[in-house]
Amino acid sequence: MTEKYDTVVGLEIHVQLKTESKAFSSDENNFGDQPNENIHPVSIALPGALPKVNRSQVLSAVKLGAALNSTINSSSHFDRKNYFYPDSPKGYQITQDGNPILQGGTIHFKTGGTLKKIRIHQVHMEDDAGKSNHELHEAYSLIDLNRSGTPLLEVVTEPDFSSGQEVHDFLAAFQILLRYLEISDANMEEGSLRCDCNVSVKPTGSSTLGTRCEIKNINSKKFAKTAIAYERQRQIDLLTSGKTVDQETRLFDSIQGVTYTMRKKEDALDYRYFPDPDLQPIILSEELIENIKGGIELLPWTALEELKKRGVSADKAEALCVDKNYVLYFMSLHEAITKPKLVSDFILNHIAPRWEELEGLDLALLNERWIELLQLIKSNKVSASAAYQKLVPEILSDQNLSVLALAEQNDLILAESNSDDLEALCKEVLNSFPDKVMAYQKGKKGLIGFFMGQAMKKGKNLDPKLLQSTFGKLLS
Ligand code: ADP
Ligand code: MG
Repeated sequence: MTEKYDTVVGLEIHVQLKTESKAFSSDENNFGDQPNENIHPVSIALPGALPKVNRSQVLSAVKLGAALNSTINSSSHFDRKNYFYPDSPKGYQITQDGNPILQGGTIHFKTGGTLKKIRIHQVHMEDDAGKSNHELHEAYSLIDLNRSGTPLLEVVTEPDFSSGQEVHDFLAAFQILLRYLEISDANMEEGSLRCDCNVSVKPTGSSTLGTRCEIKNINSKKFAKTAIAYERQRQIDLLTSGKTVDQETRLFDSIQGVTYTMRKKEDALDYRYFPDPDLQPIILSEELIENIKGGIELLPWTALEELKKRGVSADKAEALCVDKNYVLYFMSLHEAITKPKLVSDFILNHIAPRWEELEGLDLALLNERWIELLQLIKSNKVSASAAYQKLVPEILSDQNLSVLALAEQNDLILAESNSDDLEALCKEVLNSFPDKVMAYQKGKKGLIGFFMGQAMKKGKNLDPKLLQSTFGKLLS
């Protein structure tokens, strides 16, 4: 009988912060600049260059701690992690070893239709290394030190994941959280969110963890899922053939879909950590921590509750909550319109797909115009389909005319704002087809479509919904 195995995964996640300057110098913190454009003496470690703590990095960590419900340490410090690598000219990384800024905490996220809880072990602050490029030149490796000194948070989770799919879904949720907090772009392709996946397997039911391998530097949710699945099978194959899993650091080849050895535990590095004497300890006052906690306007899970409270269906609330901007947009339009379905459909179907196009426009002005538009739909002056198909593009291209004027110009105003007129028209139709009315009353209910068609021929721009209900009333 073949034994069954459970997968166990713990993550070390690197988050690049979107602060204006780098972690320990005044260099601009900008992705995509020309190589070696942002290289302050601190970034290239000129002798005598002294680092300085970046307040924004510390505040970002506190914000994340507030969201994860971590213990925020009122006193922490930076350590040096010593190692040599050509893209790290200092010869060490500045990080936090024994005394990190955040400890503990939890995060809940949806996976496979249920809510899963992951415990956070700790979060510490550090700086990023530069980048080596081994492809651009055939004889040399090239070094770009723009990234050197980029502020990072490293989030270490407990080994609480039990599949690659869970890690995939967690990374999606975590990416959304970081964007709500506005502390990182969390863009995995650009490397502002990347993670090391520690993977082990154990016989199902066993409470002892197996030996883990660490897969370094995964920069996509899909790669995390594939790498973990591959690694799980590799370890199971070793164990079932009587071998053991060696603890090692591995890399993922995204083209072959396999992991391979980078270094064995035997040559595990001794980093000789010690407190960085150039940097003062980070002391946080209770008041500062409380201010930051109080300043967080929305979190993905509080947003979800807010939307449901306003009557948005669970599915649509979840769809809106992927982006804080959609939620805030919903709130501002809903305050004026108070029709949760109308507003959430409008945002999901017509605003979200155009988000990039809208960003350059005057949002306050545009909001007033969307409110005018939704009001016209709500009061049955314009049909929803005409409003979305014809008026939305008009509103975006013509900022001068009012929405009502645009509707009039395009001949979209529904005729029967006056319900007496509509009733008279419907009566006229019914009077001209007494035999059909009789048939309807004997059970041919489909004839209502015929009556509506006749009415539409007589009147202009009739609202089908109103027409149907008026006929329904007259015929019963
Ligand atoms: P180190 O500091 O040597 O990298 P840690 O104990 O801090 O080791 O663990 C680092 C990461 O590995 C954490 O995310 C943790 O959850 C995970 N981890 C630890 N043990 C296991 C295991 N047996 N299987 C899978 N993940 C593990
Ligand atoms: Mg590690």
